Amino acid sequence: MGRTKSSVNKYFDYCGPSDKSTCKECSKELQGNHASNLKKHLKQHEELYNDFIDNQSQITYKSNKSQVKIDALLRSSYEVKVNITPKKVIDACVEFVTVNGRPYSILNDSGFKKILNPMLSGFKNKIVLNSTSIRRHVHEECIVLKKQISIEIQNKLMQLLG
Ligand SMILES: [Zn+2]
Repeated sequence: MGRTKSSVNKYFDYCGPSDKSTCKECSKELQGNHASNLKKHLKQHEELYNDFIDNQSQITYKSNKSQVKIDALLRSSYEVKVNITPKKVIDACVEFVTVNGRPYSILNDSGFKKILNPMLSGFKNKIVLNSTSIRRHVHEECIVLKKQISIEIQNKLMQLLG
């Protein structure tokens, strides 16, 4: 968080070595440069104090404005082009329930679907992603893996026997 320089400090001259702030209006010396102390003193100079308060509210107004910008940004609709294959999406879902250990039911969650559906419609809805289909993919990958392992073992055995 960056501190704005248009703070109460601008009405005082601060001297570091003596740790004293001098009021530019009445030359009164104050210990330190704590904003709360300076503000308290500034109240005695009504005009300056009002000026200070006005500036403060402008700063708040500015940050409100940037909040509005973010809101607008979040609301605006984008056409997002992503380069992704159905296989990558399926693999990601498989990883979700295997490597990441998330329950299959997450794949049926409304929030998850909201993220996924635009992508699936991009695939012309040719693939179905839910707990059942991913469970099947995990099962298929298991079978492929089992086959690979058994082939490897067979080869090793052949080598040993040969
Ligand atoms: Zn003063």
